[in-house]
Amino acid sequence: MQPMRRESPYPMVPVDEAQRIITAHAAPLAGEEIDALWAEGRVLAEDVLAAEALPDVPKAAVDGYALRAADGQAARRVLGELTAGGGEQLAVGPGQAARIMTGAPLPPGADAVIMVEQTEERDGVVQVRQALRAGDSVHTVGQDIAPGALVLAAGTALGPADIGLLATIGRVRVRVWRRPVVAVLATGDEVYEPGAQIGAGAIRDSNRYALLAAAREAGCEAISLGIARDDAEVQRQAILAGLARADVLITSGGVSMGTRDLVKPLLAELGTVHFGRVAFKPGKPTTFATVERAGAAPALVFGLPGFPVSSLVSFEVFVRPALRRLQGDARPERARARVALAEPIAAPPDRPEYQRAIVSWEGGRLVARSTGAQGSSRLLSLRGANALLLVPGDGQVYPAGAELDALLTGPLVQY
Ligand code: AMP
Ligand code: MG
Repeated sequence: MQPMRRESPYPMVPVDEAQRIITAHAAPLAGEEIDALWAEGRVLAEDVLAAEALPDVPKAAVDGYALRAADGQAARRVLGELTAGGGEQLAVGPGQAARIMTGAPLPPGADAVIMVEQTEERDGVVQVRQALRAGDSVHTVGQDIAPGALVLAAGTALGPADIGLLATIGRVRVRVWRRPVVAVLATGDEVYEPGAQIGAGAIRDSNRYALLAAAREAGCEAISLGIARDDAEVQRQAILAGLARADVLITSGGVSMGTRDLVKPLLAELGTVHFGRVAFKPGKPTTFATVERAGAAPALVFGLPGFPVSSLVSFEVFVRPALRRLQGDARPERARARVALAEPIAAPPDRPEYQRAIVSWEGGRLVARSTGAQGSSRLLSLRGANALLLVPGDGQVYPAGAELDALLTGPLVQY
């Protein structure tokens, strides 16, 4: 029997120092070229410039008549019709006009387009109700995108509008950063598959599935390493199997002070433990290590606590920004906002606490409501949360209406 330790050999590091240490090890992985039109969620590894002007020729911005502004309000003879993509050829001289549809190239000689609503056409002659200036309702060359313009910058996480931009400028292949492969291992003799028949005292493995989902949400490829019993050899083999396949390994449980908490010594044996305790709540035993790999940057290993809330909050605060950095995201951090408390909050006396909260826009400001009891095992405290409230570790009571910083982890709630 191993004796129980009374004191951790790992110094407690402040949150920002822990984040700095991780960041120093989280350089982007290699780039790869992929099909740009299906690259949603990927992060650009190159600046994308427009090769051509858009539009490439002047075009009608409305349905109406192409004409010469200098003819004023005089009636014009209608020469024919120009449609978008129709390729009709005609030139507009003085006293003439052409019916033109939105998106059709402006014909030679015309310098403006009048909306159909401001005209009347009879017997091949169009009357205009209003004089125009040259350029009216003309979509000019390069008005939307100038040639050579920076369309998307390296580090952009591609969303639907970006895919549209890539398609618009004809970029069908694009360089992006490789997605990190993240392996997740649960530990614990009491931990079982959620679908298994379990006996008294056993618990279902919620952490591994929640962390796999969180890794996928963060843009990674996630692989499950199953559940390792609390046995050093079993855990060593599971960790090695994960390191052979993944850029990042996340473990759940086994990092506290119990005699069956085996993860930290294993990581110290296999690699370098950069910190083994963080001054924050929930998730003090959060551990970060790197392990050398042949022919690649060292693998990152996060030993997260077993308590379900601690493991997910630690993921949010320490792991997610690193996963975004590994894929080159120029904005790897969640947005911060100043929020007003809907109800009083008692701050812990010793370390900052990341409290789960629901933030909404109310009465002209952002208001944070607690998700209820903040115990580390109460996964329900994460339900519906779209923010982590940064409560300082100063032992104060913050009254309703007081303002604190929050990390926005999801979209604002609209009541
Ligand atoms: P540990 O960090 O291993 O001491 O675990 C702390 C607490 O978290 C214990 O109550 C465990 O039963 C619980 N726990 C550990 N692993 C998991 C898991 N994969 N899913 C849900 N709860 C867990
Ligand atoms: Mg355990």
